[in-house]
Amino acid sequence: MELEPFVLGGLRYAPASSTIPVELQISQASGAMVFDMRLHAHLSGACMRCLAHAEVDRDVGAREFHDLDAPSGDELRSDYVVDNQLQLGTWTRDAIALELPDQIVCRDDCAGLCPVCGKDLNAEPHEHLERDPDPRWAALEGLRDNL
Ligand SMILES: [Zn+2]
Ligand SMILES: [Zn+2]
Repeated sequence: MELEPFVLGGLRYAPASSTIPVELQISQASGAMVFDMRLHAHLSGACMRCLAHAEVDRDVGAREFHDLDAPSGDELRSDYVVDNQLQLGTWTRDAIALELPDQIVCRDDCAGLCPVCGKDLNAEPHEHLERDPDPRWAALEGLRDNL
């Protein structure tokens, strides 16, 4: 199955190879077709906190029912069957998107980048407790010392 990279929060997450194996089983249950799909998604891209390399590994499984006789809009009519063709590409993509975490990070406790100076807080943990003194105040302080 061809899989295009996902773009999340302006960052790109690409599969290890552009085609991924998808297991598809088709069976029947009470007059409807049942599609069972399983795949393993492995995407890599940038950590959403620190921009270092991050990977997502997910086992994805999804099931769709499709009854050829059901009226359109019925829940037994799969949106992924168009003109009696299963849209496996669209379905695969949606199923993977549903499994992706809200935040893709290099590791769960990634400290991210410092919001003040932009340095990597994993490599250089630090805090900015006080704001740098305003240079105008420093000048006034100097003035006081001279009084
Ligand atoms: Zn990170
Ligand atoms: Zn900082």
